[in-house]
Parts: sequence; C-alpha cells; structure tokens
Amino acid sequence: MQRLSLTIIISLLVLISFGQIKVNNDKAPQNSPSIKVTLLGTGTPQPIMERFGASILVQAGSESLLFDAGRGCLQRLRQINVSYDKIDALFLTHLHSDHITGLPDLWLTGWLVSKRAVPLDVFGPTGTREMLNYLQKAFAFDIKMRVEDDKRSEDGSKFVVAEIQQGVVYEKNGVKVTAFLVDHYPVVPAFGYRIDYSGHTVVLSGDTRYSENLISFAKGADLLIHEVAIAPDTLSKSDPQYHILMHHTTPEQAAKVFNKVQPRLAAYSHIVKIHGLTEADIMKRTKATYSGPVIMGEDLMSFSISDTVSVNKWQNEKNTGIK
Ligand SMILES: [Zn+2]
Ligand SMILES: [Zn+2]
Repeated sequence: MQRLSLTIIISLLVLISFGQIKVNNDKAPQNSPSIKVTLLGTGTPQPIMERFGASILVQAGSESLLFDAGRGCLQRLRQINVSYDKIDALFLTHLHSDHITGLPDLWLTGWLVSKRAVPLDVFGPTGTREMLNYLQKAFAFDIKMRVEDDKRSEDGSKFVVAEIQQGVVYEKNGVKVTAFLVDHYPVVPAFGYRIDYSGHTVVLSGDTRYSENLISFAKGADLLIHEVAIAPDTLSKSDPQYHILMHHTTPEQAAKVFNKVQPRLAAYSHIVKIHGLTEADIMKRTKATYSGPVIMGEDLMSFSISDTVSVNKWQNEKNTGIK
C-alpha cells in the first residue's frame, strides 16, 4: 500500500525536458512506448550495493528479453515486478563472470518462486552450452529435490541453448535481435546486441574497446547503451589496473562512438572507475568532445522509446538498497 501511494505521488512529478528527451522521475504512463529498457545492473565485478552486476531488461511488444545476468539481476527483476516466468529469452554478451554470476540465482530461485514450467532460451557465445551443462550438474541435487519434493515442473529447470554468430539471432512477434562482434580481446567472441521493434532501435555495447563494428551496427539507434572505463591520464603501463582499462572504452573514445552513431540518446552502463575517478569525471570527459544527449546510467533507471525517448529514474529508495 505504502509502495503504491509512493508510486502515485512520484507519478505526479515530471522534472526536466530537453530536446526530444524527457527526463521523468515518474512511472506515469507514456504514450504506449514501443520499447522499454531497464538497467538492472550497471556495475562491474566490484561487489558494491549501488551498482549490481551487468544485466539489462528489454521489453518490446510481447517480448521480455534479458541481456546478461550479473549479480543481483533476480532481485532487481523483483523490484520492478517482473517474474522469471515472464522472461522469454536470455542473451549473453560474453562469459566473464560479472555478466553471469546472477544466472544460477535467476534460473533456480526464479524457477522455484515463479513456478516456471518451460525451459529458458539462452543465446550466447561458444562455451555457453558447456557452462550451462556444468551448472545443471552442479545443481543436480537441488533440481531433483525441487521436482520430487516441491513438485516444480522439470521443464522449467531446463535451458534451450543457441551458440551464436554475428547476425540475426532472434525474431519473434515483430522483435528482432541482432548480435554483432565487439572487441573485448582476448575474450573472443564477445557480442553487442541490436534490438529492433516497430521502427525503433536499441543497441547494447556489451564489454568492448572502441569498436568500428559496433558503430556500423548501431547506426540509426534511438538509444545506445555503452560501457565506459575511466582512469587518470597519468595511469602508467606498469600499473596493475592498466590492462583493465585496455579491455574497455574510455570516455573520449565513447564520445567518438556517439559522434559517429548520433543516437537520440546515449547512456552509460557497466561503469569502470579506476583510482578514485567518478561518474562526474566520465561525463565531463565525454562532453568535452560530444555535445549530444548522454546520460549516466543507474541501477533501475529505465528508458521508454517511442516518438520520444524518456528517462525514468528509480525513486523508491526503500526497496533498492541504493542510497
Ligand atoms: Zn568483460
Ligand atoms: Zn564486464
């Protein structure tokens, strides 16, 4: 009840408007958004409360698609009242642990509490099938108990796996998902994803260095969600953090990507901060060479994409663990 009244109060607030992008602090109905994107986790391997592991929910038409399953994704889904049995497919960008450690919880606890009765479609790079087979083995005891004792559907504990190549990987009910290669060497392959629905486009970078391939696949995107990593200019090659920076995209490089793609809105997620630099530093360095719309992502921030691109910040502090 308390949560409902808070939602109603928040719904009355509309804060900022700039250009075609509305930034709302509300949950007021939009003009039937074609695509809704929710950042479930905007973090990295760092185990912090403010930014959970990498995971993004894309809801388009009848489809609810999850991209990566980092730490805490099931809890974030609960916060926005999306049950595991409503997830139509999971797409993995790559197999670094910060993108998959939430998967056992999503899958097993999700199955238990939602009583899902159908397998989960999982799309990912080579190695995905083997990893999921091992997970099935690791949790075989629990799965047996949940089926025999808790009477859960065995089908609900299964995966249907597709190991993908660059190209269209999913097409259902008007929603098209295209995987494209990004550069996260030596993690090969690593994918970004483009989601098209009803004339609108969302592009997710996954983990990548500056990538020309991403730029060509992201052309015409309404929303481009891109990773970023920041370190002091003085970071030396002998610094243990240097190789982390080299796996990712600096704010200056991201600005170059945004200038080439010209999305209606760019947003950062998977925020890597080295040696005490901050989100403000990332935005400052981005805006030095990019004057278009760009926003720093936060956990549970959502985007509604139709004729306008609206940003909705999560307000319910009580339930997020976010301070
Ligand atoms: Zn990675
Ligand atoms: Zn990562």
